[in-house]
Amino acid sequence: MNIKRVISEMTLEEKAGLLSGLDFWHTKPVERLGVKRCMVSDGPHGLRKQDESADHLSINESIKAVCFPAGCATAASFDRDLIRTIGEAIGDACQHERLSVVLGPAVNIKRSPLCGRNFEYYSEDPCLAGEAAASFIQGVQSRGVGTSIKHFACNNQEYRRMSSDSVVDERTLREIYLPAFETAVKRAKPWTVMCSYNRINGAYACENRWLLTEVLRGEWGFGGYVMSDWGATNDRVESVKAGLDLEMPASGGENDRLVIKAVREGRLDERLVDLCCERILTVNQRYLEHAKPGTPWNKDAQHELARKLAADCMVLLKNENALLPLNKNRKIAVIGKFAKQPRFQGGGSSHINFSRVASAWDELQSYPGIAYADGYEIEQDAPDERLLVEAERVARSAEVAVVFAGLPDRCESEGYDRSHLRMPECQEALIERVAAANPHTVVVLYNGAPVEMPWLNGAAAVLEAYLGGQAVGAATVDVLFGDVNPSGRLPESFPVCRTDSSAYPWYGGEKDTAEYREGVLVGYRWYDKKRMPVLFPFGFGLSYTEFHFSNLRLSAVEIKDTDTLSVSVDVTNTGSRAGKEVVQLYVADRESTVIRPVRELKDFQKVALEPGQTRTVSFTLSRRAFAYWNTQIHDWHVETGAFGIQIGKSSREIVLEKDITVLSTVALPERVHLNSVFGDLTADPKLAEIVDPLLDTFKESMGVSSAGESADGSTTITDEMMRAMIAFMPLRSLVSFTDGRITHADLTDAVERMNQQPEA
Ligand code: BGC
Repeated sequence: MNIKRVISEMTLEEKAGLLSGLDFWHTKPVERLGVKRCMVSDGPHGLRKQDESADHLSINESIKAVCFPAGCATAASFDRDLIRTIGEAIGDACQHERLSVVLGPAVNIKRSPLCGRNFEYYSEDPCLAGEAAASFIQGVQSRGVGTSIKHFACNNQEYRRMSSDSVVDERTLREIYLPAFETAVKRAKPWTVMCSYNRINGAYACENRWLLTEVLRGEWGFGGYVMSDWGATNDRVESVKAGLDLEMPASGGENDRLVIKAVREGRLDERLVDLCCERILTVNQRYLEHAKPGTPWNKDAQHELARKLAADCMVLLKNENALLPLNKNRKIAVIGKFAKQPRFQGGGSSHINFSRVASAWDELQSYPGIAYADGYEIEQDAPDERLLVEAERVARSAEVAVVFAGLPDRCESEGYDRSHLRMPECQEALIERVAAANPHTVVVLYNGAPVEMPWLNGAAAVLEAYLGGQAVGAATVDVLFGDVNPSGRLPESFPVCRTDSSAYPWYGGEKDTAEYREGVLVGYRWYDKKRMPVLFPFGFGLSYTEFHFSNLRLSAVEIKDTDTLSVSVDVTNTGSRAGKEVVQLYVADRESTVIRPVRELKDFQKVALEPGQTRTVSFTLSRRAFAYWNTQIHDWHVETGAFGIQIGKSSREIVLEKDITVLSTVALPERVHLNSVFGDLTADPKLAEIVDPLLDTFKESMGVSSAGESADGSTTITDEMMRAMIAFMPLRSLVSFTDGRITHADLTDAVERMNQQPEA
């Protein structure tokens, strides 16, 4: 199809019509010109394909599909291949079901653990979220089906999500909230982007030209179409101008008519309407050319895949005296309703009509020594004494007790936020009581986001299984009994309590204004800066084996910001089981004029190692790994200075590190001015050469010799004191303090000369 020609043959009505959905899930056809309708569907961790009785909050049933682990879990795998594999499986399912685009991945940053939709998102860290998103997109799109990375951008709360204005400063946007999208767009080229409901610094995402056109297309080179989140369109005419191509779902022709009217009245350039049509038709055509409706979709095989992948996402948080893995022949008390009815996915638009479910209890049926107690009712908060007593009895009679707990559906969902991080009271009470009855108590958690753990001391082992998809129960058994060695790492910090998070005081905001006042200090960037205790840090996770890191090598001790740095490190499995380790590479800016986190994750790799095996893991770091977003030049900037290259087992446990110097090749414009202070100037040797003679004149005028002695000989001011005192005096003050010996002209001349110096 010659898209440009087709568009030229379309009436204005047809073109405006193409800019909104046919119904909940289809783009419009233009039959007389051979333009076919195409279907999109949620995602992202399985298909939620609906038919006529459509809605966007999973109120009505959709087709049966395989529910894979949710974003919270897959990010914990720290495994690009695993996430790509899920994408491929979903891509196959899309082909089978004739879907042009799956609506995901969802990559918003977990600004606060209270966000109701965190289960669907990847991480509090933009590097991890971006890598996960790119892998998912590559997987789906390798099957000739598109993705829609969402929700662009700053949809970090569910509270008032359709009206709230996310007020975020420029640096924080660039360093925290945009990079996951940026990485995915640049690297994986998603066919579509879904804009968010909220406003960003005043303008609704759907009519935010800066975001949709200047940044997304201009800077990052996005070439697909942008669709609205469902019902996110505010002013359709403004949104066309901003770069929103497709309004979803349908507006019954209402908004199409506004577009037509605006073109007729000369308020909207028809070429912009053509451009939206072109982008939508280009993506649709790409799908139609790759469509393989006969693609097999073997749900049983995908269920087995989901089981394997879910096991690799689980995070072992605690394992006293190597209680895990368990021996199949021990007497085991299985306690808690989640053992029979696991919670494995979240509520809302990502809710999947799962094809099967594998509970831990089903899987344990062939084990000889198992006993069971309900422990709690899933729908209740208050403890039930009868269930607790029964659980204690079962726990006491076994060698090991495994409590299945976590968050029921009502505690976290799309559409509303959490008000606290506690598990239901009945579940907390159950863990306390079972742990008191049996010192060998293991807690398995099914939840989409961090919980507080007032019971942690009593539990001998804790396995965070997250929302692991429909096979989570079987996968849990695989990990508990050592068929799979756990290798997940936390993609988010677990705070001690909800008030610890940096966003806490500001989260939710005031009515429709949510100011992100914590700035770049989100997640571990905040806890580490504050040196605040956390329950479990970002990147943390145990294994049934031990890993040792050695031999950190850097390709240079000094580089220019235009160079790359190669980093390699050896990892050895020093234990007796095969296992996987996640090598986390952090960069720490040692000295900076801007407020920066202590360290930031810049890359990671997961490696599988047999006992005794060593492998070398290599990384390449370039300018961006050292840079911060500079608001003077509106660009990334590296400051000359020392940077730590750190290998960590978590953001809190750095096991190897080496420093390098990075030299900036970019001089910030007019960095010296009359109000520059001496401390800043003398810190730079090139500038010091110019400023020192001025300072000498100043000291003479004040009657202080350069050795720091006052004129009458009594040593009252040491050099150090003098330096400290003048450190924060601005250049211009020399005119006042040198009795005419230094003039305005002298200073202007010095400023000019200093600005000509290359940055140190
Ligand atoms: C959600 C999107 C989803 C859409 C369609 C919206 O409510 O925010 O993530 O893709 O509905 O179901």
